[in-house]
Amino acid sequence: MNMAKHARLAAVALLAIGAVAGCAKDDEGGTTEGGVALVKAGALTTCTHLPYAPFQSKDASGKVVGFDVALIDLVAKKLNVTQEIVDTPFEGIKSGADLNSGKCDVAAAGMTITDERKQVLDFSDPYFDATQALATQTGKEVKTLEELAGKRLGVQGGTTGEDYIKTQVKEKNLKIEVVSYKDLAALQQALATNQVVAAVNDLPVWNEYIKANPGKVVVAAGFDTGEQYGFAVKKGNAELLKTVNDALAAARSDGTYDKIYAEWIGEKPKA
Ligand code: GLN
Repeated sequence: MNMAKHARLAAVALLAIGAVAGCAKDDEGGTTEGGVALVKAGALTTCTHLPYAPFQSKDASGKVVGFDVALIDLVAKKLNVTQEIVDTPFEGIKSGADLNSGKCDVAAAGMTITDERKQVLDFSDPYFDATQALATQTGKEVKTLEELAGKRLGVQGGTTGEDYIKTQVKEKNLKIEVVSYKDLAALQQALATNQVVAAVNDLPVWNEYIKANPGKVVVAAGFDTGEQYGFAVKKGNAELLKTVNDALAAARSDGTYDKIYAEWIGEKPKA
């Protein structure tokens, strides 16, 4: 066989491998017209951790709705696909494991942007400002963490609220029994049934809970942690990240963001 024939055969073989690889990929994933690769063709797959109202929770019909859902719908629209939501533990979301394994394209989970998480995720521009808040049952208010000495304080495992409280307890040597719950529903249930005397989570989720259960719980104290939420994509997924940021910027400039904010959060965003 001469060299030219060798080269031709090698080229044909490479094309064949490419075609097979291409087919295999098309079976599961897909690429949008704009060239954004997606883990499932025709869908923007979102990882979240339910429930986290008003950012994501099931409505009466079982459909997942909320502030984050509405914003990511704008991204899906830009890509000409529909959003599909996967409910999965927060640990796999914040560690990057779910995005890395192709479980989803984007994470939208009321997730605070932190330096630690930035090592394993690529965050969008910030889309929401949040602080931490301490909730108690009505009539059982405590204003400071010091007052919780010898008592049980609930937090949600893996969250910035848990980190904040654990740091405070350590730094101030507080004698509080911190109890971690696996999700927001379990934490709120613990507060409602006196398993803990107070519970810490992001302020907007307490506001939402109080709206849904009037008179039962109050926000007794706030901790201005200056947090900002970001959507996240797999490290290096610059095309999708740009689409997310473009959709956010467009929503902010054409009033859609304010409309979605008013619908799900209630008050006007701070200027
Ligand atoms: N904002 C908090 C965090 O990032 C809580 C997020 C959540 O529980 N979904 O840790």
